[in-house]
Amino acid sequence: MDDKARTSTAATVSDVQAWTATSRRSFLRTVATGVAAAATLGGAAGAQQKPGAQNDVHLSQIDAATEVPLKTPGPFLAPGKRIGFAIVGLGRLSLDQILPAFATSKYCKPVALVSGDAEKGRKLAAQYGIPDDHVTDYAGYEKLKGMPGVDAIYIVLPNSMHKEFVLRGAAIGKHILCEKPMATSVADCEAMIDACKKANVKLMIAYRQQYEAMNRTLGEAVKSGKLGKLRSMLATNSQNEGDPTQWRLNRALAGGGCIPDVGIYCLNAARFLSGEEPDEVFATTLQPKDDPRFKEVESHCSFVLRFPSGFIATCTTAYDVHRSTFLRLEGTERWGEMSPAFGYHGSKLRFSQLNEAKKEEVVEPSIPDKDQFATEMDHFAECVMTGREPRTPGAEGLQDHRVVDAIYQSAATGRSVRIAAPAGPTRGPELPPME
Ligand code: NAD
Repeated sequence: MDDKARTSTAATVSDVQAWTATSRRSFLRTVATGVAAAATLGGAAGAQQKPGAQNDVHLSQIDAATEVPLKTPGPFLAPGKRIGFAIVGLGRLSLDQILPAFATSKYCKPVALVSGDAEKGRKLAAQYGIPDDHVTDYAGYEKLKGMPGVDAIYIVLPNSMHKEFVLRGAAIGKHILCEKPMATSVADCEAMIDACKKANVKLMIAYRQQYEAMNRTLGEAVKSGKLGKLRSMLATNSQNEGDPTQWRLNRALAGGGCIPDVGIYCLNAARFLSGEEPDEVFATTLQPKDDPRFKEVESHCSFVLRFPSGFIATCTTAYDVHRSTFLRLEGTERWGEMSPAFGYHGSKLRFSQLNEAKKEEVVEPSIPDKDQFATEMDHFAECVMTGREPRTPGAEGLQDHRVVDAIYQSAATGRSVRIAAPAGPTRGPELPPME
């Protein structure tokens, strides 16, 4: 067996759990003795059996105790037992990330495609083993109701179209995973939540970062007090848009510019990593008059979120700078950062701390770069199979939208804007422990 492959699997999991559960010294001891730390990140949720658990297979450890124990992945569900997804909208995200992610998913399979381009639909169906009669256009969306094997719908359309396709999907009784941002107005978010509730179907917003191991490790470090008292966050998520005719620069389709598209990652991170809700925001935006890309939407925004505990998040987002992604949480005892952050792959997590000689050092837990879309889809599939509420239900998307509205209001008035607390919890139950 390839040694590289070995280190990139099980070693990293014990690294993560050990770091969050133990001191630096015991972290090293834990890795050295090859004993996975007992820490779990999910509390009671960890007790739940995984789908297909009766078929889980364990192999004996053949390496010495000095090596990191290997873990066989799985259990995977057989094709006939998996949750069947219809993918709606065959653009970049669907083709480049979501459809390929089914190959590493444990519980999901693609069974139908919805596209305005019949030829593209047929070609992709051929690649993914989907029958031609499981490809339909937007007008034929309701055909999904009677299509064998379609349990869930994944909506990957421009933002302002999410509402219509969630409502139509709920009306035909399908569970719905919807891309972020949830919609383009608070009223649309509320209508989507209501429709899914009335139809008794699940609605999850695809906040992939909340399911990703480095983000979860950072969140656990906050929760367990490893960072001390959380004081501040600095974050940026920016990129340089090209084609001025694309929907992302069209207000009616996108709902705004960089703020709802990429700035939302900083906003959502500040909320889920702190576990608090902001009660005030101050923001300033830029919309250059001489740049044809920004006739309708902002190119740039900086916003400062205040939280009830005194925690402050300072965020920047842009559509007119070279890709720049970073997140640092600052606590009284340590900082934890991801740089790069927010991407599909290649994030790096680091923590600062004083070592035993009272010297500053930076530790970088080694965490596997798993497919974030497979992880997120598998969580949704588990919720559909078990009836559990997703970790990021509609209420999570709605709350981000309420804050986005306050950001725009602050930028328009030049004043800070108060944000009322959400009506109830915005997230579902804690996730089970990381694998
Ligand atoms: P895209 O432009 O590449 O694809 C959009 C698809 O919608 C295309 O197939 C297009 O033909 C179709 N479409 C249907 N009606 C349209 C219309 N009126 N105008 C324009 N396109 C129309 O976009 P994308 O990058 O795939 O984004 C789709 C959704 O996914 C958005 O909500 C976006 O915010 C989200 N997204 C999420 C992530 C993530 O990391 N979770 C990353 C990228 C995009």
